[in-house]
Amino acid sequence: MSKESIQEAIRKYEEKAGKRLNPKAVLFDMDGVLYDSMRFHARAWREVTSRHHIIASDEDFYLHEGRTGASIINVLIQRTFSREATEAEKVHLYEEKAALFNQYNDGEAMPGAADVLREVAKTGLQSLVVTGSGQKSLIDKLNHTYPGCFSSDKMVTAFDVKYGKPNPEPYLMGLQKAGVQAHEAIVIENAPLGVRAGVQAGIFTIAVNTGPLPDEVLLQEGANLLYPSMSALAEEWSLLVVSSSMS
Ligand code: MG
Repeated sequence: MSKESIQEAIRKYEEKAGKRLNPKAVLFDMDGVLYDSMRFHARAWREVTSRHHIIASDEDFYLHEGRTGASIINVLIQRTFSREATEAEKVHLYEEKAALFNQYNDGEAMPGAADVLREVAKTGLQSLVVTGSGQKSLIDKLNHTYPGCFSSDKMVTAFDVKYGKPNPEPYLMGLQKAGVQAHEAIVIENAPLGVRAGVQAGIFTIAVNTGPLPDEVLLQEGANLLYPSMSALAEEWSLLVVSSSMS
């Protein structure tokens, strides 16, 4: 991306926000951003839904990524059976899906994510994780993959939130934990509903398209910038931070 395109994206954000972009913290989504795990989520969902005769396509799981498990189950059951999901269905189907995901997930890091984290640290910004995931001992997993990058008091997970994405709530909580305002943060997201949550929280939101959806789906949700990979974002990180401090 050219320096001019980055500056133009920042200018547009500042016009809408009425504030200068002055980044001090980066709020990272986890699945599809820090971990190459979305294919395992999709595979687990695909198996559970077909087992229970629920209509769903692979694309659905990417389109609804970021919602809580209960919310995804409700959306699919409404569409298939024209009724709300019962509480028991929400619990049991999610348990089945989580068990399959844990079985398949190889914990592989997203290529380029370590480079982004290194660039973020170099530019003096703090890094936080804001995820809809409710996996146990998430901080141990993060410390193992990205030593020294995250701390447990600077995380927002499924256990912290009431609504989850696409509600801006998780990102607003992330701002609070970072001790910064919306114009002092940057969100990095791969999912359309995650982008929506970041944008609605008033934060400069970078979409990284690491999945099978077309770029337009992420741009339509209001992403301020879009990169094809974390590696591509890492290459331009310093340019982005320099541009924001010049604007
Ligand atoms: Mg994600």
